[in-house]
Amino acid sequence: MSVRVRFAPSPTGALHIGGVRTALYNYLFAKKNGGTFILRIEDTDQNRYVPGAEDYIIESLKWLGITPDEGVGFGGDFGPYRQSERQALYEKHAHDLVARGKAYYAFDTPEELEELRKSRDNFTYNYQERTRLKNSLNMPQEEVRRRLDAGEACVIRLMVEPGQDIHIHDLIRGDVVFQSSELDDKVLLKADGMPTYHLANIVDDYQMQITQVIRGEEWLPSTAHHVLLYQAFGWEDQMPQFAHLPLILKPVGNGKLSKRDGAKFGMPVFPLDWEGGAGEEKFAGFRETGFLPAAVLNFLALLGWHPGNDQEIFSPNELVQAFSIEHISKGGARFDYEKAKWFNQQYIHASSDAELAERIRPAAAARNYRTDTEYLTQIAGLMKERVTVIPDFVEQGYYLFEPVSGYDDEMIRKKWDAALQPAMDTLIGAIEAQEPFAAPELEEMVKQYLQENGIKPGAVLPLLRLALAGTMKGPAVFEMAVVLGKAETVDRLKNGLQYFNQVVDSPAG
Ligand code: GLU
Repeated sequence: MSVRVRFAPSPTGALHIGGVRTALYNYLFAKKNGGTFILRIEDTDQNRYVPGAEDYIIESLKWLGITPDEGVGFGGDFGPYRQSERQALYEKHAHDLVARGKAYYAFDTPEELEELRKSRDNFTYNYQERTRLKNSLNMPQEEVRRRLDAGEACVIRLMVEPGQDIHIHDLIRGDVVFQSSELDDKVLLKADGMPTYHLANIVDDYQMQITQVIRGEEWLPSTAHHVLLYQAFGWEDQMPQFAHLPLILKPVGNGKLSKRDGAKFGMPVFPLDWEGGAGEEKFAGFRETGFLPAAVLNFLALLGWHPGNDQEIFSPNELVQAFSIEHISKGGARFDYEKAKWFNQQYIHASSDAELAERIRPAAAARNYRTDTEYLTQIAGLMKERVTVIPDFVEQGYYLFEPVSGYDDEMIRKKWDAALQPAMDTLIGAIEAQEPFAAPELEEMVKQYLQENGIKPGAVLPLLRLALAGTMKGPAVFEMAVVLGKAETVDRLKNGLQYFNQVVDSPAG
């Protein structure tokens, strides 16, 4: 049977990075096995529905290249893939279960149940309690009929029989056993006719012929009810295998990474920026922070999965080839933002200058900088070994686009000596006369000049750098000069020297 897996998010807000990892593992598993990766939108909980969340999910998957083969926005033969469009199907299946004696109608009002919960410590609607409650198991048929015909509000509950061991062979966790006596009679169909997650999820996994369910660990307890549902429908033969992924943990301390950790630790925990609605929170995304999608994929892939050797850099294709469920860890995976940045550096470093130019362009445009491809390509080549995220090109390298706006005065005081003035003036003249104005030739000429005049390179090269960039950090000085161009270089050197003299003349502060 060919592999069919699904990512089934609920559009209740921005898609958390943990959800993205779930999507990725499903995708990798599908591709590795020549299978199909499906996007199903689980939007039956109207109270939690957030407009824009579905588009956000789709855009995130597209940005990362985790493209579904079937699903909302992608077509396919098993649609509709949005659960709100499948309501009639769930309703029919819920009623079928009642007819088969596996589920029942319950007429208890929310207020009545609330009373019970308040008056008793651990009230659960289960095999013991149901015998005393207002449901079709305790009523004559005619009464049930009459209530239904009168349109009385009711839910459909799964009838969980006690005394059964429910075995699950989880592909990651191994054998897990639940006791049916400890489970409640889950609501399957709500009073408004909408299914609960459990019913819709099982009906869809069955209908969409899902072969493996790969999802977060928080769903493991629900799996007991899911197995009972497969049994109740008589679909055991088509029950998928289950694989529950480990939690993603906070960068430090205990517990699961939460959406608030982003702001707390100054890092993105969402794939894309999320604007939120009126009064809602905003969140920063990996994309807008300046990460490359392949770097994010690589980072996420290793957050809970290991290749079995010490390879760290995997292209998306290599991930597909290397991926296997056996190498997913049971224990939680710590979200290490430093590692994410390291991956991004590696990927930026390995990108072509032309490719980076395209990524730098929006950041440059936002600051009204030059955006021509030729210039941005040069900037890319000059800076790519030094940056971590894309905006660094225009933030750290701002002086490649506009005049230096701040000098490292402390360094200037250390390095500038007015006695160097005549030599510097001559050197600037020589730089002005230098042809071709190319880095190796320029470097050769300057070093020769220094040698002939008995000046140590360490006395002058930092000054050139400070005059051009204001700071000691940054790209190789002669390459920088060439990118700035001869006229600008000479200007900056002259202005720089004037500034140096001012700094040393003024009292240190
Ligand atoms: N709609 C569920 C969620 O939001 C899906 C869980 C599952 O994959 O079964 O995570």
